[in-house]
Amino acid sequence: MTVYSGPVFEMAANQFTVIANHLEIPMDERARLLMPKRSVTVSCPIHRDDGTVAVFEGYRVQHHLTMGPTKGGTRFAPSVDIGEVAALAIWMSWKCALVGLPYGGAKGGVNVDVTQISKRELESLSRRYMQEMIPFVGPHTDVMAPDMGTNEQVMAWFMDTYSMYQGQTVTEIVTGKPVSSGGTLGRREATGRGVAYLARRVLKELAINPSGATAVVQGFGNVGSYAALELHHYGLKITAVSDHTGALYDEKGLDIPALMHHAQLHGSIAGFSNELHFDPAEVLTLPCDVLVPAAMERVIDARVAGKLRCRVLAEGANGPTTPEADLVLDKRNEIFLIPDILCNSGGVVVSYFEWVQDLQQLFWEEEEVMRREYQILDRAFETMLKRAKADNISHRTAAMAIGVEKVRAAKNTRGLFP
Ligand code: GLU
Repeated sequence: MTVYSGPVFEMAANQFTVIANHLEIPMDERARLLMPKRSVTVSCPIHRDDGTVAVFEGYRVQHHLTMGPTKGGTRFAPSVDIGEVAALAIWMSWKCALVGLPYGGAKGGVNVDVTQISKRELESLSRRYMQEMIPFVGPHTDVMAPDMGTNEQVMAWFMDTYSMYQGQTVTEIVTGKPVSSGGTLGRREATGRGVAYLARRVLKELAINPSGATAVVQGFGNVGSYAALELHHYGLKITAVSDHTGALYDEKGLDIPALMHHAQLHGSIAGFSNELHFDPAEVLTLPCDVLVPAAMERVIDARVAGKLRCRVLAEGANGPTTPEADLVLDKRNEIFLIPDILCNSGGVVVSYFEWVQDLQQLFWEEEEVMRREYQILDRAFETMLKRAKADNISHRTAAMAIGVEKVRAAKNTRGLFP
């Protein structure tokens, strides 16, 4: 038992054991690699609109500080607890190492249902959370970013709150900010674009013409919506989309630009036209060429894995597939897995570009951002594929092994202090 114990942390720990066994990492090195370096829990009191005071619990977990500052999103969701946040921080570490960023992983969050609070309450909560985190974060210590339930506006409030306490503007304290407040061009689209770019690359490898191929997207937040839009631009038909309010299906392909416009205006896909509505639980098992789970972790369990009818599984969410499901997928060679830590890494890659631009106060064109993002994704994809073939292992094991190996090498060459 640890303070992190719970289903999501167990999942990250089980995945790590698979990798550690594969790499034959000695037992006495394992805890140092897996267990988070630091974590903090804070109480965030705010004034509600009705004059009462409510207290929300907030967390931040910094997984390792071996390679530079820690990096990762802040999640506002009712599922958030310290174990989930720790697992997500660990995944960020393997992700950053895999794609070659000079960061350890971090994650934070507040246990709150953002649909149940007003915009003013959201601002109070965002500012109070950042204020509570000031002793714990910094541009060279820990750099936050958006995740589920947070967005550019929340990042702007975080940045403003930190800056007010410093007495000067510190844009490099968070990434995923609005472009008008020190954000980078291309960050908003970065995660979804990366997912779509890699999915298209795999379609080509499988000799499937992207034009006319089909895709299904679970989740229509920042990642799902931009992945759907980019796949749509590549010529794919997006036959189904779901979010927390329901699911839409159109075999001719949904009008994704119109759906995005609707979701931006109304906050969800609910009420969009009269396409066939169906049970969102069925979205993952619809037949399609590309399936993008871009919502929650652990949605593909062993049962769902056995029923998938896609050719490419492009993991936009963090941790959508359980280790039990991985065992099923290992036997289903007809499904090409692009594992989460590679597939959704475009977001943190462009966050890294944002941080670099803020530190240098030298800003890039969007084409430059995209060119460099795709270059990093291509390199990481090729390294993963080569490793999977050479060692005869799954894509997930290969991707995670590369990440874990890099963190381990950094720890071992730095040595154990004192
Ligand atoms: N929350 C995103 C992720 O899980 C982005 C993190 C970042 O940009 O730092 O990768």
